[in-house]
Amino acid sequence: MNSDIPERMLLGPGPSPVPQRVLQALSSPVLGHLDPAFLIIMDETRDLLRQAFMTTNEMTIPISGTGSAGMEACVVNTLEPGDRLVVGVAGYFGERLAEIARRAGADVTEVSAEWGRVVDPERLEVVVRRVRPQAVAVVHVETSTGVLQPIPPIADIAHRYEALLIVDAVSSLGGVELRVDDWGVDLCYSGSQKCLNAPPGLAPLTAGKRLRDRLGSRKTKVQSWYLDLSLLSTYWGATRLYHHTAPVSMIYALREGLRIVQEEGLERRWERHQRNAELLREGLEALGLHQFAQEGDRAPTVITVRVPDGVDELDTRQRLLTEFGIEIGGGLGPTKGRLLRIGLMGAGSSERNVLTLLAG
Ligand code: PLP
Repeated sequence: MNSDIPERMLLGPGPSPVPQRVLQALSSPVLGHLDPAFLIIMDETRDLLRQAFMTTNEMTIPISGTGSAGMEACVVNTLEPGDRLVVGVAGYFGERLAEIARRAGADVTEVSAEWGRVVDPERLEVVVRRVRPQAVAVVHVETSTGVLQPIPPIADIAHRYEALLIVDAVSSLGGVELRVDDWGVDLCYSGSQKCLNAPPGLAPLTAGKRLRDRLGSRKTKVQSWYLDLSLLSTYWGATRLYHHTAPVSMIYALREGLRIVQEEGLERRWERHQRNAELLREGLEALGLHQFAQEGDRAPTVITVRVPDGVDELDTRQRLLTEFGIEIGGGLGPTKGRLLRIGLMGAGSSERNVLTLLAG
């Protein structure tokens, strides 16, 4: 190991700990991105991604880039300039979705919720009925607040008004129940570095038939050449046409991370994340600390804690890092300095980590 890279217990809002076998996969020989051996690895990665998303969608690929690239890919493929998007905004990442869509020329209407709470489906429906958007977008686990947004009620609304549903599953895929096909999610993206055991660098994405139809009826080209899903599908599909040089080593890592997900099983993973989050919550309450996310709306992957009066948030985090090698996160945007954010994602969600953190 390089002497300037210390060992950390990554219990922040991402990245999460990367298991040894994934690190080993990363250091495997680099193959050409059209090598027959690599094509087999690509196919296996796609199959494992479909299992993780619980979908049969043909268009299921890892986008080269971090979670935000997945966000941008969903937005620019779904919407043309002037199209309408309704976004549920209950935190920093809902705001980012809205901003990306505005930059892509979409007409964006935000349905806001107080930070720490979910977006109310009834309020969202009123707006969707009025605006009649081409798409609705929400964040499943809002990492800035630790809130879990239930998806099925939002999917019902989107479909009743014939809008496509985009779901941000960056902090949920592989750690929280998410059923793309059963729930009728049209587009969903995630990040390799949260509950999927891999380093940051890839954004798994899946899109269904309604997006394919939308792509077929577009009047304008997708604004981003790099993130054009039709072009990317030619490389990931049967024709294997060169688009850009795939990040080969990261795909090895993602495949290995997804194998771990498959071996454990999704339902067992959801239960583990839930169990360890509850253990942490009990421990925090016992220490006299209060959670930020509204009770009943709390996510099992990101736990948010209010900083008590008189406690310096930055100092607390720095001491955890330097004295115990534990990384946790601080607040974003309006919660800066007021929140601590603890990620229990993927390999990070363990009883041992929870107890070590509480001791620290
Ligand atoms: N969406 C959510 C909910 C996130 O938590 C993050 C990152 O933390 C992103 C999107 C953006 O992902 P990235 O930082 O990998 O680009």
